[in-house]
Amino acid sequence: MPGTGQLVWGSPLVEAAQIPPAKLKALEGEGLQTVGDLLRHYPRRHEDRSKFPAFPGPPPENPICLRGIVAETKMIHFGRRCQFLLTLSEPATGATVRCRWFNLRYLPKILQAGQDLVIYGRPRAMKKGGLVLDHPDFEVLETDAPDSALIHLNRIAPIHPSIGPWSPRALRRLLFEILARLDDGSVPAPGAAAIREIHFPSSAEKLEKARSALAREELFEMQCVLARQRARQNAGSAPVITRDGKLLSAFVKNMPFALTTAQKRVLGQIFDDLARGCPMNRLLHGDVGSGKTIVAATAMLGALAAGHPAALMAPTQVLAHQHYENLRKLFEPLGIPVVLRTAARKEKSAAAGPRVVIGTHALLFSPETVGNPALVVIDEQHKFGVRQRAKLSAQQPHPHVLVMSATPIPRTLALTLYGDLDLSVLDEMPPGRTPVRTLVRPHEKLSEAADFLRKQLDEGRQAYLVYPVIEEGKRKELKAAATEFEKWQKLLAPHRCALLHGRLDAEDKESVMTAFRAGEIRALISTTVIEVGVDVANATVLLVENAERFGLAQLHQLRGRVGRGPEKSWCVLLAGKDAEEKLDRLQILEKASDGFTIAEADLELRGPGDLLGTDQTGLPPIRLAKLPRDLALLEDARAEAQRLMTEDSELSSRPDLQSRLALWERRLFAGVA
Ligand code: ADP
Ligand code: MG
Repeated sequence: MPGTGQLVWGSPLVEAAQIPPAKLKALEGEGLQTVGDLLRHYPRRHEDRSKFPAFPGPPPENPICLRGIVAETKMIHFGRRCQFLLTLSEPATGATVRCRWFNLRYLPKILQAGQDLVIYGRPRAMKKGGLVLDHPDFEVLETDAPDSALIHLNRIAPIHPSIGPWSPRALRRLLFEILARLDDGSVPAPGAAAIREIHFPSSAEKLEKARSALAREELFEMQCVLARQRARQNAGSAPVITRDGKLLSAFVKNMPFALTTAQKRVLGQIFDDLARGCPMNRLLHGDVGSGKTIVAATAMLGALAAGHPAALMAPTQVLAHQHYENLRKLFEPLGIPVVLRTAARKEKSAAAGPRVVIGTHALLFSPETVGNPALVVIDEQHKFGVRQRAKLSAQQPHPHVLVMSATPIPRTLALTLYGDLDLSVLDEMPPGRTPVRTLVRPHEKLSEAADFLRKQLDEGRQAYLVYPVIEEGKRKELKAAATEFEKWQKLLAPHRCALLHGRLDAEDKESVMTAFRAGEIRALISTTVIEVGVDVANATVLLVENAERFGLAQLHQLRGRVGRGPEKSWCVLLAGKDAEEKLDRLQILEKASDGFTIAEADLELRGPGDLLGTDQTGLPPIRLAKLPRDLALLEDARAEAQRLMTEDSELSSRPDLQSRLALWERRLFAGVA
């Protein structure tokens, strides 16, 4: 009968506890079928409820957890919006704090005067005195429910991510009951102690120990999957492309500049791969402006000289078009056709044989438009995850793949995101760059900044003005764009401005960029569509409004749009209204010009999801590992994964890993043929 008797890791949840069907379905919907699955639903944080702090006077620096009695609640409606106010009082002292929630109509049903309540959040000082918490986490303590004091209080309590009808409180009770009946011997590595401590820690130290043991296992599993993927890729066969050939030396001789030492070294690595007869899977990593394009073009010429087509894929139409213009100049004199395939121009490719096809990432998977390239170059890799790469290497025949990224990915992330790739680094800038001077200024300096900008335009230079897209939705975006455009048009008159954003159709984008490149348009008012790759040497000022809304790594990318010619260049970062306290973070950019330093700082501040956008990483969420802090764990896990995969690729020494890896692979490579 459910609800009694001993449980093992693999016991189905249906048999483990008395859970009503709808609630069981919610768990299953999250992929939680067994006791073990549920025990891997880790808390997102913990609250130390062994002792609650006294209600604070001045606002504390960090979020805090308070317990009190609900003294008063009030719902206020303004039109279609509403605000729920709650006063929490500390019984011993009568001290109070206020809590506010916006647009949550159901709250009056849940929160009422007289309740014993735990809240968690960051209090701020109110203008009229006292403290207020906006949208704190909360939990009503039902002290009369059995074991309540034992499960939810007087301990470090786990706060699990809610699942449908399951609140953190309900999950805590379920997990508590299941753990009480769990057979420890059935728990796989790193063992039952870690699992018990992560959910119901007996001390902060033991919690950290459990977290790091589980994080290491998580990283290990992921690295096993990446190592396996790499082994699979190496097992395929791909055209042999050798370096020598008249075409290639003529090409290198005719370049408008000499390659840097770093470019030569990287080309050496690439050509070694291309000659092996199995597919290259290499990441070319280099800061903005380090000259990745010419490296890619030279590698492509290798394929072309061997009689094969080559393809170059860019993340945006703007960038695809720019590559098209540049590569035509390089290849057409050699008699090699260059074709552009974007959503706007999708005509079928005509002849086979050596030619260069350029398109956006989206077109990569339509062989009928791209043909069967021997080499695929993917520019600005960070928008292109592990999954897409796996899909590419599943194509027949295998192409060689070179992915390029200017996102200054810290080593920690490179190991997690690109464990399936070999790495080449361009760590040297081409000569003749002028460093970009970066200035962080408060919102009030807008008109001063505009004067400065106009002066630069008067001197014949060009500028980018970047504004964040505030709200999703086509109409709002268009409206924001139009407002920004009018504002800048006035501020910069009589210089000609134009608007560039993601909602324009391909032809409009192309014509705006062409006019900007030709210098007819002097200032480009844009969203981050210019973030990657755009190369206009005469542009010397980049101004970003509400700069605090962007990640540092992203701002660094944006900054790479200027400083590409001989003139002195500027990057002006204007903070938004009320963002004074966020200037500190931006000031990192005033000092650091190297993308890696910036990326490490950003990762530390915002976490990996934010740096790349969670979707963009294409990876299942890493739940317990904290990067870059856990770098040592990661490297250790990676080394062990590689050892295991070379010595025992059948996993006979770790049969329990079979199903785990299968799960990771399902998530990682979902949709891959
Ligand atoms: P990124 O690595 O950001 O893609 P690009 O390939 O766009 O950089 O190169 C930036 C600029 O540097 C281009 O204008 C390119 O022509 C120029 N460049 C590349 N390599 C060299 C070099 N070895 N010497 C001088 N200029 C170079
Ligand atoms: Mg580039």
